[in-house]
Amino acid sequence: MEKGLIIINTGDGKGKSTAAFGILARALGHDLKAGVVQFIKSPGDYGEISFFKDRAKTDWYVVGRGFTWNSDNLERDKEIARKGFETACEMIDSDEYDLLVLDEITYITNYHFIEIDEFIEVLKNKPERLNIILTGRDADPKLIEIADTVTEMKKIKHCFDQGIKAKKGIEY
Ligand code: ATP
Ligand code: MG
Repeated sequence: MEKGLIIINTGDGKGKSTAAFGILARALGHDLKAGVVQFIKSPGDYGEISFFKDRAKTDWYVVGRGFTWNSDNLERDKEIARKGFETACEMIDSDEYDLLVLDEITYITNYHFIEIDEFIEVLKNKPERLNIILTGRDADPKLIEIADTVTEMKKIKHCFDQGIKAKKGIEY
């Protein structure tokens, strides 16, 4: 059986999640079975969700309030993140998938909603064939160590810095 990869897209530039969804499109094009768990701040009108969610062979879970920087209720955020993590673990353990995207997952260990060692154990015990893509800023060095492919998106410029608001179809 072919070894599945652990792929990380990290860094402060744009393109971490969208590159993961590019691989997702590629995998679906080959009829592979894929799943996504998205740890996003708030549910919203995301183009990628509309596009991918109801496709055959994609299971998509959105975990709202999965990361935070000005939350008034960290305990609640932690509980939501933990539920999302459990969903991800079940998907990993099920051995039903060829590809899983865990989008913005780095935040849940960076905020210590889940301890990094617990996550590393799950990844080390993943089914052999499973490919997993992890996205988010500041990927933990322990994650980088066990990954096969790690890319840092580096910001050279971002339109937000000139005050251009998030654009439909580009940012969401
Ligand atoms: P994308 O989803 O466009 O691939 P990303 O996953 O690399 O971006 P995140 O850190 O998840 O980036 O950012 C979430 C949102 O902020 C996205 O709408 C993204 O386009 C935007 N963004 C990405 N990088 C930056 C940046 N350096 N400054 C401001 N906004 C950014
Ligand atoms: Mg992202």
